[in-house]
Amino acid sequence: MMMENHDDVIEAELAQVRLKVPAIEGFILDAAVPILVRAIYRRTEHKQVTIHVQFPAGYPREPVIMEFKSKTLSDRLLDGLMKVCDEEAKRNVGQRQVILMLNFIKKFIDENPLCVCHPEISYIKQSLISGDDKVILKQKNSQIVIKVFQDSYFMNIRISVPEDYPIAQVQTEITDTNFPILLRTNFQAQAIEIARQCIQPPLKKTPKAPPFVPKPSLRPVCDYLISVCVKRYPQEICPICKEKVLSEDPKLVNSDPKRGIERVYCGHLFHNECLDAYMKTPPFTGGKKCPGCDQRIFHDKWKIPPELAETRWAHKQARQRELEEVVDFLS
Ligand SMILES: [Zn+2]
Ligand SMILES: [Zn+2]
Repeated sequence: MMMENHDDVIEAELAQVRLKVPAIEGFILDAAVPILVRAIYRRTEHKQVTIHVQFPAGYPREPVIMEFKSKTLSDRLLDGLMKVCDEEAKRNVGQRQVILMLNFIKKFIDENPLCVCHPEISYIKQSLISGDDKVILKQKNSQIVIKVFQDSYFMNIRISVPEDYPIAQVQTEITDTNFPILLRTNFQAQAIEIARQCIQPPLKKTPKAPPFVPKPSLRPVCDYLISVCVKRYPQEICPICKEKVLSEDPKLVNSDPKRGIERVYCGHLFHNECLDAYMKTPPFTGGKKCPGCDQRIFHDKWKIPPELAETRWAHKQARQRELEEVVDFLS
């Protein structure tokens, strides 16, 4: 039997491609000619790739030659995709390869929803975590589980990446931690707020500001929870007494109410009793400022206006003098 002509083989496959590819969900067929097949796979606005396929001499005994382009998926991710595709193409030699490969690429993107945040995940692994910390990818659920340690403290974080990321923000949950409950609540609320600000324009518009564009929220959330929270606070020094705010033993943090902790607006931590004494001591004019960073301290527990604080201070001082007089008189 005579070998089929190379051009006829390709023409027959192209006919099949023209018929079947537009019917595969998410695909647009841009070109299907002997020198090139060009198709776009679009799962979401940000999970989109343009695929070029060329037939080498000796096709189909040789694997197809592929090239990928994407405005939203990173070059390194596309390099990785290329590597697995080359392996797959070699397995398919002898068959009609184009549709097999297009389906393979679709499957890769569908089954790896975290591909859309690949650069952010690399950044977390390379720049944020260290030692025994772990980043576990759960592609099936589109979730990232992060376990971070610092001294005797730890935090487990579960981040869900929605299908239309980064237009929608990540959902963050602190699933377990031994930081005091007050900090855990603060951390969780702040992480949600950071993610929200990535995708919602500010209420107060700055004149002449460029139009708001949603930003990827995974990296800012992890920068905050890992660097600003877990890695920082076990080492944090109370600006008043210059001792570590958190106990070396996490179990002791909540046991002594006087050595409880307070977190103020600027993010600095204080011992409860240190901050209380500081807030009740002059000068009060212009409000009390954080000795750590000189920002005004805003805290629900110490919301008294400077004049009132001044009066209370004066009363306390007067009482103290009276008491000293009595002690002097008695001695
Ligand atoms: Zn202190
Ligand atoms: Zn401060």
